[in-house]
Amino acid sequence: MRALATRIRRYAAIAAVATTTAGAGACAISQQQELELGRQYAAEINDQLPIIEDAEVNRYVNLLGDRIAQQGSRQLDYTFFVVNTDVINAFAVPGGYVYVNRGLIERADNLSELAGVLAHEVAHVELRHGVEQMEAMQRAQLGVALGSILLGPPQGATAAAVNVGAGLYFASNSREAENEADAMAVPLLVDAGINPRGLATFFEELIAERERRPSALEQWFSTHPLTEDRIEAAQARIAAIPPSSLDGAIMDSDNFHRMQSRLRAMPPPPPEFRSENRQ
Ligand code: ZN
Repeated sequence: MRALATRIRRYAAIAAVATTTAGAGACAISQQQELELGRQYAAEINDQLPIIEDAEVNRYVNLLGDRIAQQGSRQLDYTFFVVNTDVINAFAVPGGYVYVNRGLIERADNLSELAGVLAHEVAHVELRHGVEQMEAMQRAQLGVALGSILLGPPQGATAAAVNVGAGLYFASNSREAENEADAMAVPLLVDAGINPRGLATFFEELIAERERRPSALEQWFSTHPLTEDRIEAAQARIAAIPPSSLDGAIMDSDNFHRMQSRLRAMPPPPPEFRSENRQ
């Protein structure tokens, strides 16, 4: 692992470019800058986190993710990664890099539940939630290098903490942002021909499971404000969809369960990425 100082210097340099080219007074990060920041940050995350390299798993998750992302209006080139940890979480990095943990995929009951989470994360990117957080920090001129914001808290020196830091920074969305992402996720799924019911059922199951497996779910709840209200709002949105729009929509598939079995048959995650060692 590279020294934290090296990484901070690298991000400080990127941040300086982003700031100076934004022009006086304007703090908007252009799409070009977003893509560059996202690419650099994704490279760093991939360096720090155990990414699953299995071709079949990656192909499945990228096909499903792209099918959803193609319904978005930004037409970004999305990439989906599976992180080898049993911690249940997912997060998105600006520019179109979406990370979903192995534990979340293994926990999903069906295709619709995984698709619901992917659509929610794609919606955060489509809505520029992560970029807006960066812009707000620039505007506030808090004296914090954008790089250190990107890296999360200073204790992000260990791989596990980078996981937390990335999750906290890019997935620590406000309740409002969470609701917006859910609201956009539903039409993304419907347009992709996928039944959005899993979006609500998965969240319900996580709330129910929180008491039983706190170490596996703590990160999810700290980065995705999740309340009964939010689930009810998602259920209401799904109930409002005209039934004809869901004709032929996919709820589940054999391929999903084949991919899931493949993941479950893999060796356990590295020790520092097991929820039992996190608390
Ligand atoms: Zn979210």
